[in-house]
Amino acid sequence: MFASYLPSVHPGALSLAFALALLLSLAIKFWLSSRQVRHVAQHRGQVPAAFAATVPLAAHQKAADYTVARSRFGLLNLAFSSALLLAWTLLGGLDALNTLVYDATYLRFGTMAYQLSLLLAFVVIGALLDLPWELYDTFRIEQSFGFNRMTWKMYVNDALKGALVGAVIGLPIAALILWLMGAAGSYWWLWAWASWMGFNLLILVLYPTVIAPLFNKFEPLPDEALKARVEGLMTRCGFAAKGLFVMDGSRRSAHGNAYFTGFGPAKRVVFFDTLLARLNGPEVEAVLAHELGHFKHKHVLKRMLTMFAISLAGFALLGWLSSQSGFYLAFAVQPNMAAPNDALALLLFMMVLPVFAFFFTPLSSLLSRRDEFQADAYACTHARGADLASALLKLHEDNAGTLTPDPVFARFYYSHPPATERLGAILAGPQAQTAT
Ligand SMILES: [Zn+2]
Repeated sequence: MFASYLPSVHPGALSLAFALALLLSLAIKFWLSSRQVRHVAQHRGQVPAAFAATVPLAAHQKAADYTVARSRFGLLNLAFSSALLLAWTLLGGLDALNTLVYDATYLRFGTMAYQLSLLLAFVVIGALLDLPWELYDTFRIEQSFGFNRMTWKMYVNDALKGALVGAVIGLPIAALILWLMGAAGSYWWLWAWASWMGFNLLILVLYPTVIAPLFNKFEPLPDEALKARVEGLMTRCGFAAKGLFVMDGSRRSAHGNAYFTGFGPAKRVVFFDTLLARLNGPEVEAVLAHELGHFKHKHVLKRMLTMFAISLAGFALLGWLSSQSGFYLAFAVQPNMAAPNDALALLLFMMVLPVFAFFFTPLSSLLSRRDEFQADAYACTHARGADLASALLKLHEDNAGTLTPDPVFARFYYSHPPATERLGAILAGPQAQTAT
């Protein structure tokens, strides 16, 4: 349906645009990270004046070292993953993999088996190449800063379970989308989008009740005093949740957190045990009030609707691109003559799109920080601002977040305002917090 009034894809122009976007994004990422490393290292010697009374120098220096270590590791990983992306696309890796899988499966097992095998082979190769990086991250970096609590046995166990859950969930939805691409006519992308949305809603229901319990234990909040306090807050805010749970996050990591999951009547509040061990009652209440603020300002709903709209545009774009031979040729893939090219189109799309989407990062970071300020303001009117401030400072310290990020880096990437801005706004009072 598009072919009649949309331009056709010029392979040379698309490869060039991709190469330029990749180069530009790499240049920006390297520039930002080196700014961040320099800025944090420069301010390592002294706790910022606003925190001098509350943050010990040792904690400040640990945060600086952690930030620098993570940034350096991130840059190495970036160099590797960019080389890999080039190998898959412009250098012909996907085409080579496709030839192998096609020859091994198509004639013997048919269209769907060939396409699913191609997706699976790609995912498995990607996971194996990523494995050394993940191991280094968990058992070297996280370990050396005292955050990792995982043993090798747990790691292998998690990996196998994760792969199994991924296959059980991922293969059916992949098969459904591939089938729609082949059988639903020129508007397949609308059907595929609708299925994808349905799938996401299903995961939203299944995640807290079925998937997360496979990896962690969830127990009802045992502390009666805290429970009464939290329920008091929820009643004050007019919020109903099905339950308050404690998750044994400490089994894997020392990083603390609290979150809401589910929607409608299936909503539940989950506290990491690491969070409860660290914060006192009023602080837990303030953190929860912040999360309630996200709900009251409909941030969760807005994010979901935005995601729906963006994926509709994405599927429409894929609908057009997948019908263009130029799309495949641009990334050195020779389209199949006999078999459908849908799995190839999906893989190319998933590899190429993020390179272009990267340039929207500052916009999404900005919107997210605005939401955080709003949620903080809400928390200050329904709990005490001073409690929220001390809770945030403790969590910041426990996660070794730096108090002195590079301002440009923070503007670009930070989904949460830097601690100085955030605490400043909280302590200045609710009316001062509407501005970003
Ligand atoms: Zn938040």
